[in-house]
Amino acid sequence: MYILECWIEHPVRKLDQTFTYLSEEKTQRGCRVSVGFGSKQLTGFVDNVQETGESKEEIENRYGMKLRMVSEILDSEPLITGELYEMAMWMRDFTLSTAISCFSAMLPAKVKPAGGKKSVVMEKYVSIRDEEVSLSPKQLEAWIYVKDNGPVLYSVLRKLYPNQAKQLVDKEAVSVYEKERSQSLVTKADSVQKPELTQLQKNVLKEITESDDAVYLIRGVTGSGKTEIYLRLAEKALLENRQVLILVPEIALTPQMISRVSSRFGEDLAIYHSGLSPQEKYEQYRRVMNGTARIVVGTRSAVFLPFSTLGLTVMDEEHDTSYKQDSQPCYHCRDMVIWRAKYHHCKVILGSATPTLESFARALKKVYHLITMDERINQTLPETSIVSMSRSIRSGGSYIISQELREKIQKRIDDNEQVILLLNRRGYHTLLRCRSCQKPLRCPHCDLSLSWHRDTKTLKCHTCGTEIRVPRECPECGSKAGFATFGFGTEKLEEEIRSLFPAVRILRMDADTTSMKNSHEKILAAFERKEADILLGTQMIAKGLDYPDVTLVGVINGDEGLSRTDFRSCETTFDLLMQAGGRSGRSEKTGEVVFQVFDPDHYAVQCACSHDYITFFKNEMAFRHAGQYPPYTYLIALTVTGTDESYVERTAAAIRDGIKGDFKTIGVIALLKIRDRFRSRILLKGKDLDVMRNAVREFINSYPSDLKGLRIDINPMYLD
Ligand code: ADP
Ligand code: ZN
Ligand code: ZN
Repeated sequence: MYILECWIEHPVRKLDQTFTYLSEEKTQRGCRVSVGFGSKQLTGFVDNVQETGESKEEIENRYGMKLRMVSEILDSEPLITGELYEMAMWMRDFTLSTAISCFSAMLPAKVKPAGGKKSVVMEKYVSIRDEEVSLSPKQLEAWIYVKDNGPVLYSVLRKLYPNQAKQLVDKEAVSVYEKERSQSLVTKADSVQKPELTQLQKNVLKEITESDDAVYLIRGVTGSGKTEIYLRLAEKALLENRQVLILVPEIALTPQMISRVSSRFGEDLAIYHSGLSPQEKYEQYRRVMNGTARIVVGTRSAVFLPFSTLGLTVMDEEHDTSYKQDSQPCYHCRDMVIWRAKYHHCKVILGSATPTLESFARALKKVYHLITMDERINQTLPETSIVSMSRSIRSGGSYIISQELREKIQKRIDDNEQVILLLNRRGYHTLLRCRSCQKPLRCPHCDLSLSWHRDTKTLKCHTCGTEIRVPRECPECGSKAGFATFGFGTEKLEEEIRSLFPAVRILRMDADTTSMKNSHEKILAAFERKEADILLGTQMIAKGLDYPDVTLVGVINGDEGLSRTDFRSCETTFDLLMQAGGRSGRSEKTGEVVFQVFDPDHYAVQCACSHDYITFFKNEMAFRHAGQYPPYTYLIALTVTGTDESYVERTAAAIRDGIKGDFKTIGVIALLKIRDRFRSRILLKGKDLDVMRNAVREFINSYPSDLKGLRIDINPMYLD
């Protein structure tokens, strides 16, 4: 008999402990089991297995309680490695989440604890058998094909030898077996010559290879050759027969990273991101587990792939907000990657042109090893200018495209070069207001205003996706006076550009034009083939693109983000401007960048204009110091969400009153309603994260009921 300790798939925090079950059949830590729990049948995750010669009754006597048998063992081998198991336990403590939610975050959907039995796709293969069988000449030909090509897909053999395939099987000249489908998602790009490294790159490589430090922060302007450094370090790790993990913010937006890695490392590469189907994800997971994938380029969740021996981890664009998971467990990929690198004794390279203040402050304190690459490979940074839109509008100019930007676009198009225009807002109008009561039209499910979209002739909520027609009368006052329009998004920008430059070919990339699978890639590839002169879109076009003919980047309403109330709003505005500017003039031709803004003197705008991260950092640190925000303090956001407003308020108040310690408690703050759910937040702010975390843990453990709807976010990225 085996005694199993199991974590049970159950969302209730109070049940975040192991339960004891019995099994006649042997199993291992990390396998899933199906168990009866109360009146329900749930999935469990085996934590510990103990073999015993005792009978069920003897064990029950020893434990002093009745024990149930597991209903079924779902996996024959563990889904996660011992390392990942340990990591899940650490993550549970670190993010104050349940163990089962950590396992869930780690595993591809097909094999999540709740996923039930594996439903992976199997494929039929045939391979030759040694026995002598007499065959016709044509059958022999088919048999030789199988012999020469090793195990082949039965479907392929049938296609090539429609009549003989089945005959070979019937005669038992070949054997048929099923295997989990696995396919490489990478088509090998043409191999390219490695560039001769610049002196700076050589120095950086030497500094990293010769140092014993664990975590490196490369602050390097866009186009300074960071990626080349990653690739050289990767090569070295692969030569030592170790695996490599390269994390990127969004795969669809970084096609060039993939083509560069695949042209160097070809079939050893696996790609892992949220756009893959569950089956594809599962296949890549297996490839990493069995070692056929030696280098992975992936987004956040790739940090949980079952590597056996990591030799290098890279996190490109380390400041990107997509590295933080919004839902429980609210983990940051950086913490996970550093944990794993420590486990494998390998290095972590964090790279960015605009590191988060937290990371840069750590680098200055020598917690991370700081490396600076301030020059572009082509030696020229783009010429950047700021256009004050208030002045431009006052002197009678357009409120969308200023005269200056318009002339520059014309010139670039005349010279057969390409232009990128960024406006971080989609739709046509950003707001419709009742002409009678002046109230904006709001989403029926969220406390947010709706945007009008011309393509669909509807109002859309960009947060919950609700789409409605413009109502005949104002839902607030009933007036039929109609609505006045305010603000503009990418649809309107596109229209404006078409009317200003009728002959110009335009591509638009935003959430509305990229809802289909692979549409990002299609738009970007068309732009790369120069099928368009202007690419316009939201922040998705600010990342990672490297097109030699792009010589002008215009950012429209570049400082709109400053109006947000979040403590990080200056930082994200600065990042966006720097990233966007980084797309221009990356090759021989010198580039130009124009920021159209309303607050031209703001330090975020000024510093982005002069490509000056250090001055921005100093200014922003002063602001953070004054408000006692990170990196000067740590934050924990505790948000209660629910459809019952009074429950949300009551619970939030109980949390505020119940959590005590040497830190500040701010709130309760009522947040905007989203998706019909009320939200209240308490913010803890203090100097010692462990003290704060322990206080929260103690409170949860001592609270008499389960804190339904509580979301715990350690080190939140945003507060608005
Ligand atoms: P980053 O990652 O910092 O943006 P990249 O590594 O992408 O910089 O380099 C910018 C451009 O310069 C790319 O087109 C890249 O192919 C090219 N490049 C990088 N290193 C070299 C080098 N040593 N010699 C020539 N070209 C290089
Ligand atoms: Zn009204
Ligand atoms: Zn909504």
